[in-house]
Amino acid sequence: MAQLPSLLGFDHEQLAAALTELGEQKGYRVTQLQEWIWKKRVTSFEQMTNLPPSLREQLASRYSIMPLELVEQHRSQSGSATCKFLSRLLLDDELIESVIIPAAVGEDGDHSKRVTLCVSSQVGCAFGCRFCASGLLGLRRSLTTAELIGQIFAAEYLMGQRVDNLVFMGMGEPLANADNLLPALRLITAPSFLSIGGRHITISTSGHVPGLARLATCGIPVRLAVSLHGATDDVRSRIMPVNRKWPLSELLPALDSWRRSSKHIITLEYILISGVNDAPQQAEQLSDIARRLHAKINLIPYNTVEGLPWKRPEEADCRRFCRELIHNGIPCTLRYEKGHDINAACGQLRRHRINSSAKSDKISR
Ligand code: SAH
Ligand code: SF4
Repeated sequence: MAQLPSLLGFDHEQLAAALTELGEQKGYRVTQLQEWIWKKRVTSFEQMTNLPPSLREQLASRYSIMPLELVEQHRSQSGSATCKFLSRLLLDDELIESVIIPAAVGEDGDHSKRVTLCVSSQVGCAFGCRFCASGLLGLRRSLTTAELIGQIFAAEYLMGQRVDNLVFMGMGEPLANADNLLPALRLITAPSFLSIGGRHITISTSGHVPGLARLATCGIPVRLAVSLHGATDDVRSRIMPVNRKWPLSELLPALDSWRRSSKHIITLEYILISGVNDAPQQAEQLSDIARRLHAKINLIPYNTVEGLPWKRPEEADCRRFCRELIHNGIPCTLRYEKGHDINAACGQLRRHRINSSAKSDKISR
């Protein structure tokens, strides 16, 4: 049977329209339906006990709730409690991955039990960064609004607790899927839906300049992370083809205007790849960019991807690079990513599974 549209992508007006179409006259039904889905987090229409059985049946014949199903989960053995899970999209059986990172927001010294979820925005990615497992796959398709949100619901079922922070750093380029991302952000931030504040949401982009302008004008005050990975056009174009489309001469002014309008500090993500972008002179060039944008820098030693030639620099070299930035007055963290043992860099788990075409041992909740 073809997958029915998931109500996780519907806002209040769309839910109301769906009920009207089914002949439902009572205005309060939409609030009831919305509460079952968004506050009580039920996964079937049968559980909506204050809706008449006939309405529940009609809803179930036209719509679904969860657009994806959990296929496999991997918990990190490194003590970080990071959990990566793979989901099957019910629409077409594509696989996506998401990562749960408990208490990951330690930057402000707060190690309370906060949960951060790393969300995928597309199946694969069209941008083809040379170092990235998602890019190797090419773009298969963008995720729908419901599939973006479904990852949050799936993570909460898995953890038995609410997600507090979202980072769009999974598979895909979120700003290349603005058509579905922006409605998802509206539902995620709306008080009567998920009510996660914009300051707890980070969108990571490889430098999609028109998407940045769209995100800025949508009025949702999210945080921005930019995958820079090179401080010159030469280095960036070598490892990130997106730089040929939107070179630094376009990207940096776009980031500067984002900074001025959002008033938030931008994070520049910089993967350290041995012999590519880790020379002392490159730390100077990166400092110049960070100074110009008043940005902070997140250094991430490269997570090796099977079949790709890039290597992670020695730990001492990563530390030296970080010290040079700090010496230049740039706020900088060197982050050995959590969950290296579970292929936590984007696209790796899916690729691993596709390559080994393991059988689909479904996990029951
Ligand atoms: N497309 C967006 C968001 C997804 S990628 C972007 O590029 O920003 C999320 C982050 O993971 C990016 O900073 C990306 O460069 C990084 N990444 C990809 N492959 C990696 C690897 N093998 N090791 C470490 N980081 C990686
Ligand atoms: Fe796409 Fe981001 Fe991977 Fe580049 S790093 S290929 S933009 S997912």
